[in-house]
Amino acid sequence: MPSFRQRTWIAFLAIILGTLGGALSGYLVGRLLTLKQGQARLEQFAQRVIDEGQRSTVESRKILAAMNASPYPMCSDAEIAYFRRLIYQAQYLKAGGRMRGGSMVCSTDLGRAVHSDVRYTPDIHQRDGTSMYRNLAPFRVGKETVIAIQAEDSFIVYSPFNIQALVSSAIPFTVTDLDAPTRQASRLVGDASSAGGAFLTRSGQFSEGGTLYGTRCSSDGMVCAAAHLPVSQVMESNRVEVGGFVALGSLTGILLAFIGSILYRRRLGFENQLLRAIRRDSLRLVYQPIVDLKSGKLVEAEALVRWTNDDNVAVSPDDFVKVAEARGFVGRITKLVVRHVLHEFGETLRERSDFRVNVNIAAADLADPEFLPMLDKALAEACVKPSSIGIEITESSTARQEIARETILRLRQRGHFVHIDDFGTGYSSLAYLHDLSVDAVKIDKAFTRAIGTDAVTVTILPQILTMAETLGLRVIVEGIETTQQARYFATSRQDIYAQGWLFGRPVPAEVFLRTMTKKDTMPATDEAMETMSAFASTVPAA
Ligand code: C2E
Ligand code: MG
Ligand code: MG
Repeated sequence: MPSFRQRTWIAFLAIILGTLGGALSGYLVGRLLTLKQGQARLEQFAQRVIDEGQRSTVESRKILAAMNASPYPMCSDAEIAYFRRLIYQAQYLKAGGRMRGGSMVCSTDLGRAVHSDVRYTPDIHQRDGTSMYRNLAPFRVGKETVIAIQAEDSFIVYSPFNIQALVSSAIPFTVTDLDAPTRQASRLVGDASSAGGAFLTRSGQFSEGGTLYGTRCSSDGMVCAAAHLPVSQVMESNRVEVGGFVALGSLTGILLAFIGSILYRRRLGFENQLLRAIRRDSLRLVYQPIVDLKSGKLVEAEALVRWTNDDNVAVSPDDFVKVAEARGFVGRITKLVVRHVLHEFGETLRERSDFRVNVNIAAADLADPEFLPMLDKALAEACVKPSSIGIEITESSTARQEIARETILRLRQRGHFVHIDDFGTGYSSLAYLHDLSVDAVKIDKAFTRAIGTDAVTVTILPQILTMAETLGLRVIVEGIETTQQARYFATSRQDIYAQGWLFGRPVPAEVFLRTMTKKDTMPATDEAMETMSAFASTVPAA
């Protein structure tokens, strides 16, 4: 058991670890959300690029068709004026003109004063029969990207300003065009070194080599835009939000560690007190009568352990036995109970072979190699026969069947009467219990409580009784509080033993023994006795 100093250290350590763990989880959650949000923003941006691209393509096609349908002689003043009208009204275009055999013949901004001796080679032949020129020299200003498209003898030059508007949003992007038959990607816009090619041909969100990508493709999947930003930049611009998550995570961590250490200390406090009570032998036993329903005769008593803690609160055995089981010292309680039973009832048990006291044992006792020797030794020292001590094992404690079967067998070989307690609360069938070869089943009080109601449990009761009879198991019914409940079982063909407040509450040994000698039947209250005898007369003889 850790000392006070150690416990303080454990609490301190838990708070430190909780804070660090919380901060780390907060950071990870914050980072994850920030990156997700960043990727979504990039994808949205890529969609904007695609939308702009598609609108500009529609416009360029319309203008190129109008240019090729020019009613004027090629590159005449009238045609150049016509082209200018078309181009200057367009939203996405900055220039246009005529190109033949790779040489420019005229353009909207230079008229016929073009360098017609320079030959241009298209960068891409597009699937719609048009050709694309990247950065056509006469139209390039500074380092901006300009794209020109030629259809038949006409060409247009996209205005870089629309792209520029996107560029100036500080999110770098690339646009990739897929060639229809080969699906080979060629980059239209953007710096190839800043984006890997493989993932630019499908929509989605990616993270690669410290860079976040959001990619969107046109509905026909032939043009894709990828917006990208370094992870560090995204994190940096969301520093405050991530900080918030770290703070929140730390606070949650501190809170959890704090609650955890309080619960730990409380449990240790509870456990310490219980261990101290065992060591000081301050647990007490009470005994509850078990009667034969038909004769009204007292046949058994169940020993039930009681503990009043340091705050003078009576703690339910359901709770403290569970803690002792979980912390591995329930065997000490069992030993204490056996010792007390033999001390308090030794004389009675030596004198009356028709009466036995039942003790409850835990699952751990069944598996404990020291349990049987302890029991044998205690009985031998008290000169009490094993048949005078019944054993109650809960249904759930037989889950490890092999061990349970072995111990039950040895107990019965010695002459102990073995009961399965709280039958019906677990999942075992009567046949399974028969396999374990026990002597009796104690039907849980939940079934008794259901008598007189329309609960479904009541309908199972006759089947349990019949099955128990077929398998030769004695039946003990727990929790009988009313005559109606007692009558229900008394009408059964088989001999049934009963336990419950109607016949007597659990009382200390001296009270039990006093009443026992006085009545020589059962230590029930006078009222219960009267009820019982009145009731017994209504029960037909077996
Ligand atoms: P259990 O072995 O099924 O004991 C019967 C419980 O039903 C007892 O509760 C008893 O007081 C209660 N009882 C008896 N007649 C009536 C009745 O007519 N109506 C109602 N409502 N209740 C009735 P208790 O003493 O609180 O014990 C609870 C459980 O704690 C026991 O259930 C048993 O599983 C465990 N326990 C008690 N003493 C020991 C012990 O010495 N060792 C071990 N391992 N477990 C024990
Ligand atoms: Mg019991
Ligand atoms: Mg029970």
